[in-house]
Amino acid sequence: MQTVTRTSSRDKAKEWRKRIDDHVDALAKAVDDVRASESFKRFLDVQAKFHRYSWHNTMMIFMQKPDASQVAGFNTWKKIGRFVRKGERGIMIFAPMTFQSKDAKGEIELDENGKAVRGMTFRPVHVFDASQTDGEPLPSVDVPTVEAVADDLLGKLARVTERRTIALTFKAIDGGAFGASMKGAIEIDNRHSTGQQAKTLAHELAHEALHWDIKGTFTRSVAELEAEAVAYVVCAHFGLDVQLRSSRYIALWDGDSKGLRGSLDRIAKTAREIIDDAEAVANQKAVA
Ligand SMILES: [Zn+2]
Repeated sequence: MQTVTRTSSRDKAKEWRKRIDDHVDALAKAVDDVRASESFKRFLDVQAKFHRYSWHNTMMIFMQKPDASQVAGFNTWKKIGRFVRKGERGIMIFAPMTFQSKDAKGEIELDENGKAVRGMTFRPVHVFDASQTDGEPLPSVDVPTVEAVADDLLGKLARVTERRTIALTFKAIDGGAFGASMKGAIEIDNRHSTGQQAKTLAHELAHEALHWDIKGTFTRSVAELEAEAVAYVVCAHFGLDVQLRSSRYIALWDGDSKGLRGSLDRIAKTAREIIDDAEAVANQKAVA
């Protein structure tokens, strides 16, 4: 007796989806493990103590100390367990302050409801950069760079980029970013391993496909979670393990398994399209 195996395209699509879901499940578990770790919790505790400065103050900090990394006032540093070194010059910013408004006779001004009228003013205060302090080391989360070599995958993804008429530039990028998506153009820092470059290129391809739609209502955190999850699935499909980096990256962008599940359809569709294109360009090359 002969058995005929026939896989319908619907079965194939289902099988595909299952494979992608399995990859995302593995990533989701890794992200939740990062978030549950003591070192990550400690990191978040300390981060929460740092103030988010206004755009104006951020500019003032940059002008006075262009290499500033983490800035806080004297007492905040004390709470974190670090001390401003003697003789360090503070960075001047303006702190908003409210005050009670007084009338011409020096009496507290009242509004129509009988409440004191409050005004707002700014007073100069001094803050200090981490480099001006000593004490307990600041907790940090290491997001390791991918060390593996993946010339073949990088080549495939470069051709996918070309096929999508996205301009691709390999160059040294200043400021710590490994790549950038600029709507129709991608830059990749070529000082890293080809495995890292392939991972970054898949991430930027996902941004190009998903995050330049002006009608999109996602936050930056969701955009980073989606792009990184797509990159993870594409890399996993081609046998490149980037789990350590991707899970920590997503956790640092405030992502978790719930967020990954919420974006699963978008992640699966985008990853599938990149993988299909990468396999198509590889076959083209074989024929040529
Ligand atoms: Zn990104």
